[in-house]
Amino acid sequence: MSQGHLTEVRPLSDATGGVRVRGLRRAFSGRVVLDGVDLDIAPGEFVALLGASGSGKSTLLRAVAGLDTGAEGVLDVPGESAVVFQEHRLLPWSRVWRNVTLGLTGPDLRGRALRALTEVGLAARADAWPSTLSGGESQRVALARALVRTPKLLLLDEPFGALDALTRLKAQALVARLWTQHRPAVLLVTHDVEEALLLADRALLLADGKVADEIHVDIPRPRSLDHPRFAPLRRRL
Ligand code: ADP
Ligand code: MG
Repeated sequence: MSQGHLTEVRPLSDATGGVRVRGLRRAFSGRVVLDGVDLDIAPGEFVALLGASGSGKSTLLRAVAGLDTGAEGVLDVPGESAVVFQEHRLLPWSRVWRNVTLGLTGPDLRGRALRALTEVGLAARADAWPSTLSGGESQRVALARALVRTPKLLLLDEPFGALDALTRLKAQALVARLWTQHRPAVLLVTHDVEEALLLADRALLLADGKVADEIHVDIPRPRSLDHPRFAPLRRRL
């Protein structure tokens, strides 16, 4: 984890695997985007981060991922985290399985890639080139690339934003299943309220550079959007 200008960055012990953010501040050319964000994610908790376009969701996620050296504040994150972005960022000149294990070393990388690809239903495409995949398949490869790292924290930045409605539903169901099986802490950035309510334990609203609202989604899983409890929650956000 890069320390950058953060006043304090401490990896939590492996036993915990949660997130603690205090007073996170980020400005671009003097314009304040994050104005003292406090955020906790318990180990294994699924948190959704909602907010208008431009409210700073990606900026917050990038800071938590350790990708932003210009943020200030206190940030405790697990050492092992993995990020999935809206665009899959697969390398076009590497076959699918090599994309999954990119940057990893050790024995049997192909076997590890195949196991991760099996989890997202894409083992059969292990030797394909990324350009031959659909958008939904590419995002599933990006998920496999995150999973193979067995992260304690999974950071998802609008991972389904570019998918059509049906593919998005399938991808949401896949993420719900993977989270149930592996139980990483998750921070899911999305502007889709229904997606947040479908997947998360808690939904946070980012506005004016701060966490402005928070709702606990104590609806048992598996969830259906037809559940009457969703209506008042939807109105609150
Ligand atoms: P969101 O993900 O909620 O749509 P972002 O975090 O991407 O919002 O951006 C929040 C604000 O910060 C936007 O006004 C954006 O233009 C600005 N911003 C983000 N990254 C940079 C950057 N690298 N340089 C300058 N401005 C940036
Ligand atoms: Mg964004």
